[in-house]
Amino acid sequence: MTTPFVIAIDGASSTGKSTLAKGLAKALGFVHVDSGAMYRGLTLYAQQNGWLINQQLDKASLIAHLDDIQLSFKKGALYVNGNDVSAEIRSMKVSDVVSQVAAVSEIRAFLVAQQRIMGANQAVVMDGRDIGTVVFPKANLKLFLTADANIRAQRRYDELIAQNGSTTFEDVLTNITQRDHLDSTRADSPLIQAEDAIALDATQFTVDGMLKYVLTLVRDRIMGI
Ligand code: C5P
Repeated sequence: MTTPFVIAIDGASSTGKSTLAKGLAKALGFVHVDSGAMYRGLTLYAQQNGWLINQQLDKASLIAHLDDIQLSFKKGALYVNGNDVSAEIRSMKVSDVVSQVAAVSEIRAFLVAQQRIMGANQAVVMDGRDIGTVVFPKANLKLFLTADANIRAQRRYDELIAQNGSTTFEDVLTNITQRDHLDSTRADSPLIQAEDAIALDATQFTVDGMLKYVLTLVRDRIMGI
């Protein structure tokens, strides 16, 4: 029996990974899993329970309660214990501390196990930081997206403003650079390009252009199976 097709998309914050992943999932009929949303969901849960005070995570409390937290995706929305938290997890309040939560090994192990189950029985396109290196080291296609930090910050800032968020470009740029630093220097599953990943500079493509290009890569890989 062949295992389902897996596309792993990794890269720094706001490089357009999720947009590409959504487009691929729609075009190919695969399931899209935004793994960053899962780290954000746990971060929000910790905040709601008072385990993130003055931006310091009470690791022991969150770890002790992991089994009480049910994460699920429905139509692209993330639900935590039955509540749709898709909008709240995008706030700067969550963005400011999510990398701290994501650096904790017990939390990563908890989410990685769920991510592997999601890719075990269905074709998936999953985006994050460690999908091609840790979650699915044997993924059929691995992509690593890069883009200049200023361009990424402008993109994220425009999205937040469009969603009525109140923030400044400088705050978004600081958040992106701090998260990139924490994500790529942590001990467990740091953000690095897998040896067999294809690097794509998002600033060299339009959204549609990148989708079309990656679809040709996927078709080549599918033909090669
Ligand atoms: O993808 P997004 O920017 O929403 O991810 C939020 C944060 O979750 C990242 O900055 C990173 O700290 C963490 N993350 C991770 N591993 C993943 C996906 C996200 O550590 N696979």
